[in-house]
Amino acid sequence: MAKKEECIFCKIIDGKIPCSKIYEDDNFWIMDDANPAADGHCLIIPKKHYSTILDMPPSLGTELVSLAKGQGLRLIKEKKAEGFNLIQNNFSSAGQVVMHVHFHIIPRKAKDGLKIK
Ligand code: 5GP
Ligand code: ZN
Repeated sequence: MAKKEECIFCKIIDGKIPCSKIYEDDNFWIMDDANPAADGHCLIIPKKHYSTILDMPPSLGTELVSLAKGQGLRLIKEKKAEGFNLIQNNFSSAGQVVMHVHFHIIPRKAKDGLKIK
């Protein structure tokens, strides 16, 4: 599991690597995904380094849900999305590549043909 010192998301949050930031507050950082599955695909990331959701305190859950709802509504408005996926991968066997817990918000349209891997 990547330690904070080697973690790409920690480096982004610390300002060492640029990104397209959408939002930040004391606990969370939201940015566009560098390799989006659809236009508007973004990531909600706790600022503290937790590898998977198993390490993340449940006390962050309320804010996380609030932010996910806000981003979903934003994508419906700004990207004319008809829906959105909220996806979160834990461990490499489940497709997690960046070992700093994060939540994908992917805008969807009924006939977009998107196959999410
Ligand atoms: P995972 O498979 O770990 O759930 O997803 C990792 C996501 O992070 C991928 O969608 C990938 O495109 C995104 N990602 C990886 N490196 C960077 C980066 O340096 N900047 C940004 N904005 N996204 C990244
Ligand atoms: Zn990290």
